[in-house]
Amino acid sequence: MDFSFSKKEEAFRKELRAWLEANLPAGWLDGTFKMPDDEAGFLRDWQRKLYEGGYAAIAWPKEYGGRNATLMEEIVYHQEMVRVKAPPLINYVGIHMVGPTLMQIGTEEQKETYIPKILTGEEVWCQGYSEPNAGSDLAALQTSAVKEGEKWVINGQKVWTSFGHVADRCFLLARTNRYEKKHKGITAFLLDMHQEGVETRPIIQMDGKHDFNEVYLNNAVAYDADIVGEVDEGWRVSIALLMHERTGIGAQVFTLEQQFNDLVAVTKELEADDGEPLMNDPFVQRTMVDLYARSRGSLLNYYRNLTKQLKQGHPGVEGSMDKLIVSELTKDLFSQAISLQGHQGVLWKEDAVIGNSYWQDNYLYSFGQTIGGGTSEIQKNTIAERILGLPKDMGR
Ligand SMILES: Cc1cc2nc3c(=O)[nH]c(=O)nc-3n(C[C@H](O)[C@H](O)[C@H](O)COP(=O)(O)OP(=O)(O)OC[C@H]3O[C@@H](n4cnc5c(N)ncnc54)[C@H](O)[C@@H]3O)c2cc1C
Repeated sequence: MDFSFSKKEEAFRKELRAWLEANLPAGWLDGTFKMPDDEAGFLRDWQRKLYEGGYAAIAWPKEYGGRNATLMEEIVYHQEMVRVKAPPLINYVGIHMVGPTLMQIGTEEQKETYIPKILTGEEVWCQGYSEPNAGSDLAALQTSAVKEGEKWVINGQKVWTSFGHVADRCFLLARTNRYEKKHKGITAFLLDMHQEGVETRPIIQMDGKHDFNEVYLNNAVAYDADIVGEVDEGWRVSIALLMHERTGIGAQVFTLEQQFNDLVAVTKELEADDGEPLMNDPFVQRTMVDLYARSRGSLLNYYRNLTKQLKQGHPGVEGSMDKLIVSELTKDLFSQAISLQGHQGVLWKEDAVIGNSYWQDNYLYSFGQTIGGGTSEIQKNTIAERILGLPKDMGR
């Protein structure tokens, strides 16, 4: 693969850069921006702006409102968004997971109803997969959906539902048949979150933030038109969505590259107790070189997988590799950043000595990254079985 950018791609970069400079909120680029209390409202407005500028989902086909971006344009896009540390996408689940899954498997009616609102951010989505006793072993899920006349009546509990507290709709898995083997008898529903039978309770993370939730389903209602794929055949649908999820997470290689550059800058500033720059310490140098080699390797691996994905038109199992490598590397990178700060590394929030707690907050968050979207152990099982062709995990 040729990694140099053509004139057309550099023109796209220039256009996007100019758009970001004109459209990022005041104070964003100089670091004086203060997030308003209504963070969700701010992020919805930001997604609307992205949509209006034609930057909400550049890789989507034109017929669905995307730009049909090439692989190289996508790379430019990620690089530029990361360079300005652009606000996150509130409808991440919609854009990167539900939208592409509906394009692949949804009915024409579902595509027409949901895809435009996903793109504008008018409807924010969450993913209702995990349950208290069904995470890695997702097929053990117990939430039930029973057909009563026109309605499907849904009861059960979901957990770790990211964006659940701001979501309008949920891509939900429920058991519709208890007599089949556990991978059979599951159905995928597009559930309206604004109904009496849906209750969302917050889960506060160890970094003090509220990103995910418990969702209680108490006679919640869905209809036949809300089913993706066939009744009892939702396992296949759930895997299609998971593949989009893992590929999306893999795109964090670009964030990782930026974070590595930030780490280099910090390491150059920090001094050891004897006043020597930490960067002169051979042990620090060795760790930094190791992190650099691994982050370059993960970027190149991501390019290779993305190339294959573009050729075949949908993500493949290689997304597990990207997800595993990036999440584990992110954890190691932030762990190094904390360790370089010595005893000050444990100071957090307003007490943090460098970076306004950026390193501490991201270090705490990095643990979740190795769990969400499938744990590292599960990714290793997938790579072993589906890429390396090793025998199946006997525990499943
Ligand atoms: C930041 C974050 C965001 C999330 N967002 C969502 C969301 O939006 N929607 C949603 O539905 N879920 C979400 N999740 C839940 C996530 O998908 C689950 O936490 C994950 O799949 C693991 O399931 P579990 O927590 O039940 O752990 P378990 O499955 O109970 O696993 C416990 C431990 O056992 C290991 N283990 C389990 N099975 C095996 C095996 N066969 N071989 C080897 N080791 C194994 C695991 O790796 C893990 O270390 C999120 C989680 C996090 C951390």
